[in-house]
Amino acid sequence: MIKRLLTRLQSGPLWWGQCLLCRQNCQHAPLLCEYCRQDLPSLAFPCPGCAFPLSVADAHCGRCQKQPPPWQRMRVRAPFTEPWSRLIHDLKYHGRTLNGRLLGGLLAECLGPPWPEAVLPVPLHWWRRLRRGYNQADEIARGLQQLPGLKIDNRLLRRIRSTPSQTHLSRMERRRNLHGAFAAAPCPYRHVALLDDVITTGATMTELTHLLRAQGVERVEVWAVCRTLEH
Ligand SMILES: [Zn+2]
Ligand SMILES: [Zn+2]
Repeated sequence: MIKRLLTRLQSGPLWWGQCLLCRQNCQHAPLLCEYCRQDLPSLAFPCPGCAFPLSVADAHCGRCQKQPPPWQRMRVRAPFTEPWSRLIHDLKYHGRTLNGRLLGGLLAECLGPPWPEAVLPVPLHWWRRLRRGYNQADEIARGLQQLPGLKIDNRLLRRIRSTPSQTHLSRMERRRNLHGAFAAAPCPYRHVALLDDVITTGATMTELTHLLRAQGVERVEVWAVCRTLEH
């Protein structure tokens, strides 16, 4: 708690009407000034299956052609590079929950119909959520609420097992690490979107998609703010 307060003080207080990135005043666009906004990198022609950037539009990458992902569609706003990575890091580790609202709003720009019946933020284990004070995926979901009629359901999914950090694990190890880590209440939806901050190997989304499909969900989409660029 004290550590969090100190890091917040070191980076200076944030005033309403200041850009979250450059701290210049910005009256016109809340949260992000127009200059920082123009400089944000995007993903060129993302693969509809895994959001890997390609050189042509609406094409599936070789990997998705060979082995289609378990979900129907993936939507990702940006590569996991600066300044996106900084916004996400500060959201997760420095208590900057306002970044979640901004990131959700930016993600909303690359989404489109057909809309899911509910958006399901990827849950944290209760202990980690307690220590952090919030779930970053819930904060990003707040930013999606500008899309009219979109329902956010953060009660359906639960993380029942705390898993060790995934950072240094291979794709296979991540899948094994996550097996049985989540549980779902009886699902009333047929079309849902899973929501997370960053996609790395997609192991979490694979596990959750299988869980939802077993509950009778017909269409699962994966939404995330960023993805890493290793394939
Ligand atoms: Zn700015
Ligand atoms: Zn792909």
